[in-house]
Amino acid sequence: MTAPTKSYPTHDDWKARADQAEPRGQAFIGGRYVDAASGETFPCVNPATGRSVGDVAACDAADVDAAVAAARAAFDDRRWRGMPPATRKKVLLRLADGIRAHRDELAVLETIDMGKPISDSHRIDIPLVADCIAWFAEAIDKVYDEVAPVGDDALALITREPMGVVGAVIPWNFPLLMAAWKLGPALATGNSVVLKPAEQSPLTAIRLAEIAAEAGLPDGVLNVVPGFGETAGKAIGLHADVDAVAFTGSAEVGKLFLQYSGQSNMKRISLECGGKSPHIVMADCPDLDEAAKAAAFGIFFNQGEVCNAGSRLLVDASIKDELLDKVISWGEKLAPADPLHPKTKMGAIVDGAQCDRVMGYIEKGKADGAQLRLGGERVRRETGGWFIEPTVFDGVKNDMTIAQEEIFGPVLSTITFESVDEAIAIGNDTIFGLAAAIWTRDITVAHRTARALRAGVVWVNCFDHGSISTPFGGYKQSGFGRDKSLHAIEKYTELKTTWVNLA
Ligand code: NAD
Repeated sequence: MTAPTKSYPTHDDWKARADQAEPRGQAFIGGRYVDAASGETFPCVNPATGRSVGDVAACDAADVDAAVAAARAAFDDRRWRGMPPATRKKVLLRLADGIRAHRDELAVLETIDMGKPISDSHRIDIPLVADCIAWFAEAIDKVYDEVAPVGDDALALITREPMGVVGAVIPWNFPLLMAAWKLGPALATGNSVVLKPAEQSPLTAIRLAEIAAEAGLPDGVLNVVPGFGETAGKAIGLHADVDAVAFTGSAEVGKLFLQYSGQSNMKRISLECGGKSPHIVMADCPDLDEAAKAAAFGIFFNQGEVCNAGSRLLVDASIKDELLDKVISWGEKLAPADPLHPKTKMGAIVDGAQCDRVMGYIEKGKADGAQLRLGGERVRRETGGWFIEPTVFDGVKNDMTIAQEEIFGPVLSTITFESVDEAIAIGNDTIFGLAAAIWTRDITVAHRTARALRAGVVWVNCFDHGSISTPFGGYKQSGFGRDKSLHAIEKYTELKTTWVNLA
């Protein structure tokens, strides 16, 4: 017997769920929801409407102190790290199941909080969050320590131990997924965590704390302190009892965390920062239609609010016009629309400040002499929300501001080159090094170019492909340390050598 097929929720279904949502806005400290000690709150605004969906606790240093104390107590009495590995694995697998069980609810929260299309929240973000937690859960009782080859007279054990209290400071573009990339390996290795979601998008992290508690994660192991960067974020960075901070966000704030560490206790810092990824299309591109589609989605997916967005399209001059026409025709199909409509591919920009920032770059591009080929306007103003059309510039020079600075919006800069060496030189001519892509039929050119590009991920004849099994992170000012894969565990563990004299 086959199970009846459930039809996918309609626009009206999603709107009804969004209307009924009653997001919780409190902090989660020591296993319970609490207000900020100051009693302060801030409104959480739906960027598709400009209207508040609820108030959120504005945590500051006092709340971070309480959260760190709860995390420290949980770490010191070993209530989590001291559990048998198989038991910890079960707890995190239950957490992954809990996320799957609350998929619709979490997807709605994500969409009304940061404006991404519901089909992305529901089909991409939330399933990947659950898969990430489950993947690291499975690693708990499968990763072994080492014995060093030191000869007959000694036994040298190399073991990994949890850091202790980990601060996770997260951006707003993939709110729960970026949190999961930290929580999976941090919790799997036995740490306690103080999670600070971005002020633009705190709702799913707050809800996750409750789902984790229901899964059996002991009190104090996961604490969530919503609040602003300059208060809650800075307090985590400067806290003397936080052992490590895993940060995802802008390079500018990433550098502040390095300073906070130096000014306090030399806490371990890992940084996943921005990018200006070159999407390179050689003259012998094996499939120009595929490359054009990848180039369009590489910059317009998630409204361009993607750290590894292919924001610079580097294309051989001989095929530029043909490729760009195809990219533009994809862009024309991606008009921003209501994020709660299941067919919407481009939603709202996260808030008014980010919208102004992106529009400022578009004006700067025009003023610097780049040719606007598509979009460039703020649209759907009547909604009260912030929406920007897919925007394509041609004739960009790599030293223009729009080619050098991270825009974090749906703005593509097209730059031509005449040779592979020139493509590599332009590709690397940026302070960032997060990702890059190359389209070519020539396997030698593909490998030589992949080696020459200073980036943490290089895609060949595709864009943005990946798996939880592969590391993700940057070179240069895109940061250091890797999320995803077993390499992520390195950020949350100290290596210990135990030398036993057998002579
Ligand atoms: P942001 O740097 O402004 O904020 C990130 C986090 O840092 C937020 O939680 C914020 O509250 C906090 N913060 C801000 N100012 C702070 C301060 N003075 N002290 C301490 N904490 C502070 O970044 P954003 O605007 O939220 O996100 C966009 C950025 O994130 C982009 O640069 C993007 O490339 C980057 N990003 C990188 C990755 C990656 O994996 N490399 C993934 C997603 C986003």
